[in-house]
This record gives sequence, C-alpha cells and structure tokens, in this order.
Amino acid sequence: MASPNLHIFFLPLLTPGHMLPVVDMAKLFAQRGVRATLVTTPGNAARIRDSLERGSAGGRVEVLQVEFPSSLAGLPDGSDTLAASGTPEVTEKFFGALNALRQPVERLVREHAPDCLISDTFFPWTVDVAAEFGIPRVVFHASGTFTLTALGAVIRSCPHLGVSDDAEAFVLPGLLDHIEMTRAELPEFILSTPDYMKEMAASQFKSYGIVLNTFQELEPAYGDKVDGLKTWSIGPVGLCNVDGADQAVRGEKASGDNAERCLSWLDAQAPGSVPYVCFGSLCRFTRAQLHELALGLEAAGHPFLWVLRDVDGSGAAELPEGFEERTKGRALVLRGWAPQILILGHRAVGGYVIHCGWNSIVEAVTAGLPMVTWPLFHEQFFNEKFVLHVLRAGVPVGTVSCRIKEEERVLVGREKIGRAVARVMGGGAEADALRRRARELSTMAKKAVEVGGSSHRSLDDLIQELIGLKKWK
Ligand code: UDP
Repeated sequence: MASPNLHIFFLPLLTPGHMLPVVDMAKLFAQRGVRATLVTTPGNAARIRDSLERGSAGGRVEVLQVEFPSSLAGLPDGSDTLAASGTPEVTEKFFGALNALRQPVERLVREHAPDCLISDTFFPWTVDVAAEFGIPRVVFHASGTFTLTALGAVIRSCPHLGVSDDAEAFVLPGLLDHIEMTRAELPEFILSTPDYMKEMAASQFKSYGIVLNTFQELEPAYGDKVDGLKTWSIGPVGLCNVDGADQAVRGEKASGDNAERCLSWLDAQAPGSVPYVCFGSLCRFTRAQLHELALGLEAAGHPFLWVLRDVDGSGAAELPEGFEERTKGRALVLRGWAPQILILGHRAVGGYVIHCGWNSIVEAVTAGLPMVTWPLFHEQFFNEKFVLHVLRAGVPVGTVSCRIKEEERVLVGREKIGRAVARVMGGGAEADALRRRARELSTMAKKAVEVGGSSHRSLDDLIQELIGLKKWK
C-alpha cells in the first residue's frame, strides 16, 4: 500500500537491543512507501550501514546524524553505544548524555518537518519536541505487552512491599494469568525508581501510542492497550531480513565475518542437535560464572554454539583448563558479535539458552526454538515468567537474583546448567512437548507478518492513522 508523503523520524536508543528492532521497523515502514528517516550518531550509523543498505524486501531508509556529546559527558570517544559501557558509572554518564541530543534533534525536526516521531521510551523529551511542531510522538519499547502490563501493575500497587523477605513469593497483580514473583527478581529500577524512569512514564501518557516488536497471537490476553494507550504490535520485525545475506549483516559489522564460520560449522551438525547460547549485547559474567557455564555445557553432552562475552570485554576471557581441547569439534565458541537471526534459523539449532532479552525471545519464537531461560537484569525476569508460564516454551536454569553487577548475582552451578540444557535438548515427553509448542508459536509468528496477518494489518492501521492526522494539520 502506498503511503503518500508520510514522513517519519525514527529515534532509537543507542544500544543493539533497541537500535536493531527500530532499524527493522523503519525498513518495514519504508517497504510500505513511507519516507523513513533514522536519526542516530555517526558511530551507530556506521554499525548499521550494511544492514540498511541491504534489504532484499525493498524500501530505503535515510539516515540523519547527530553528534554524541561524549566529551561533554566525560566519556571517551566511541562511547555512543550502551554496549560499550562496562560499569554502572559509565552507564550513568551515557544516560546523562542522551538529554544533550535534544537540541540537535529539534534542529533536524525543524529542518525536515517529519509528520511523526517514533522515538524510544528513553527519550522522554521527544514528546515535547513533537508537541512543539504539532506532530504525534509514538513510543517504542523493547518489550512486549505482558511485561509492560505487569511492570506497570507492580509499580502502581507495590505487592513486593507486603512480603517479609526477598525470597517470599507474591502474585503479580491485575494479570489474567496467575504468576508469582519474588522481590529478588525485581529490577533495581522498581525497587528505587530513578528520576529518568518517572520522566519516561510521564512522557508516555502524553504520547499518541506505543509500537512494539510483538504480535497479537503471542500475547492475546494482554490486548491492544498498555496503561490506557493504544499499542500497535507489528512484529516479529526481524522477519524483514528475509534472506541469509540480510541476516548476516544485521547488527555489528563483524557479524558478516562470523556468518560463514557459523554456517559451515552448523552445516556439519545433525538437525536440532545444537543449543545456541547467547546472553544478548550487554551482559557480562564473572570468571567464576563463565567457568560454571563452560563446564555445564560440556557436561550436557550436546554440541553447542556459544557466543562468549568476556569478563572485561577485552577478549581475554579465560576458559577452564583443557575445555577448548576437550570440546574441539563439538563446540563453536564465538567471540564478538553473532549473526543471531541467521544462526537461529539454521536447522541444526534445536534450543536457545537465553538471557530473556525481549528481542531474543521474539527471535527464538520465530525460529521455533524451546528455551532455557537465564534472566540477569532489568525486566528480564518478567520476560522469563512470560516464556515459562504464558508461552510454556521453556525451562528455567534456576536463577534467583536480578542484578546488573555480575559480582552481585548468585552463581548458577554447572549441574543446574547441564540439567536444564538436557531437559530442553534431550528426548522424552517434556522435550517433545516444548518442541511442539515452539513450532506452533513459530507458525503463528510467520503468519502474523504475511499479508492479512495481524501485524501486517496493525502496521497498515498505524500508517493510516498517521496519514489521517496529517490531513488535519
Ligand atoms: N544480537 C545479535 N548478535 C549478538 C548479540 C545480540 O544479533 O551477538 C541481537 C539479537 O538478535 C537481538 C538484539 O541483538 O535482536 C539483542 O536484543 P535483546 O532485547 O534480546 O537483548 P539485549 O542485548 O538488549 O539485552
């Protein structure tokens, strides 16, 4: 469907878990004839260039650049991605720097006069910029409707204040599903709400609606509204990367180089035999935890593909003595950026040891893979509840504490890891049921983006509403 003259600015948070789905979204809008402009920093523009230039399904996304104020924030050059921020202190400076993007973004809006801003929840000031220019601001969250609904309910009714200790369970309020949680599983931003979270929440209420990388059939009970705001579920957006070459360059530049290595290794493995092990773009583990993970994967007895993030990000992770020799041929340990969507779609991959980042969950669902859930921080424990109790598509590794700092997390032992991997990858009734469920979800995911599918219609609906608003301007 052509969308005459509709021009949208996309402003994603500067981190892969937000940037990549928004790039995919911008491509989807462009494929429908919308003029799509991505606004980002030069460093991030370089990271996504290959992905934007490819796009076998058509649709061209323009890029406008704004300088990241590294020196103003006391950060070294090249700090314009959260993935580069190793410590909470650097992360705080990074978030501080985001406010300084307001003026250059405002200048671009004045110059190019878009009809709508689709901006990340982490840019609350975009609601004022949009109001100043008389255009709608649509919020993007890197989350699904279940988790947004549950987070909102916990923030409003504080069930965690009624329990006597961190390990005592409470029921998540206001949900159709009966789901229990503990205080230890709650993110730090709920236990003490920082000012930027309050600003994000306030700006959300003044926004036009919410756009999400999810699909209606994935979370039907959580409807088309969050906190009273209309949501458009237009995912899985990763499916816009239709061929292997699109998938190989999605994300960091290095993934193209890793793609061939992964594919030739996976080609030599039996169908469904490999668990993919990856904890997203931000997670770091202590050396002790990396050792337990290595030994747990080794003990599980399956071949495995492990994307290893180093203890200090330097590439110097030490694995247990003899590990690499013992697992030679049976394991591919990938340092750096993995072409994740390409890997998940390979027939040799049969399961996913996952940190429960939202995009990765949607990608696992799309690929029809059962999961071993290993949440670490932020809202990942909510996402885990969703996978285990709503989707019924995984088993837990058994983590108990939600912590950003790796040294504050409770160590997960090799036995637990080995057992959970064996439950998902082995034979038997439980593994069969998980695989069946994962396949059903995958079929629904792919249907959602086909012509006439729920996400396809939802995207049409959003475009038509925005065209309608433009007429009244
Ligand atoms: N990703 C990837 N290769 C990697 C790590 C991550 O392609 O080595 C992609 C992954 O496919 C997903 C995104 O980065 O689209 C990560 O988002 P998610 O919400 O799962 O987790 P986060 O990194 O934000 O914790």
